Amino acid sequence: MTKLLVRRDGQLLSVAVLRAMIYENENMIREMVFSQGWVIGENNELVLPKGASLKMAVPTEFLPRCPVCGKPLTMNLRSDDKFVEDEDWHQAAEQYENFLRTRGDKVLFLELGVGYNTPIIIKYPFWQMTAKNPEATYACINYGEAVCPEQINRQSICIDDDIGAIINQL
Ligand SMILES: [Zn+2]
Repeated sequence: MTKLLVRRDGQLLSVAVLRAMIYENENMIREMVFSQGWVIGENNELVLPKGASLKMAVPTEFLPRCPVCGKPLTMNLRSDDKFVEDEDWHQAAEQYENFLRTRGDKVLFLELGVGYNTPIIIKYPFWQMTAKNPEATYACINYGEAVCPEQINRQSICIDDDIGAIINQL
C-alpha cells in the first residue's frame, strides 16, 4: 500500500492506493506439489518415489505471499469485486473479441466442464451468441450439468458424461 498526497480543491488529501497485481503461480504451485513428496517422472508426470508417502500438508513457507508486502496471495477469480484486469487481461480480451468477430456465422461453441461457479465468463456468453446466430451450434460435455436453455435446444448438443471418456471415443 502506498500513501499519496493529492491536492484537490486547494486541500491536501491523503489517499491510500492499493495496487492490484497478478503474479505467475507456476513455481509456487510446483514448490507446494514437490513439498508433498512428488517428483517429475520421465513423461513429465507426477511420480511418488518408492517408499515415500505424501505429506498431505503444505509447509507454511510455501504458502504464496505478496513479494511487496508479504500478505497471503489469493486466486484471481471472479468471485468478488477484487478480480484484477491488468494489461495482459485487456490484451487477451481484445484478441478474443477479434477472434469471435472474424469467424463467420458457422461456429461451434464447445464448452467442456464449465459449471455454475462463474457462468458469466463462458457458459452464458456461449448461450447468448448461439441464440443470436441460427448457424451456430452449442456443444457441452459436463458430468451432471449438461443443460442449455429451451431457446437454443434445437442448436445444442448436451452430453452428460465424463469429458475424458467422450473425447477418447471421438
Ligand atoms: Zn502486497
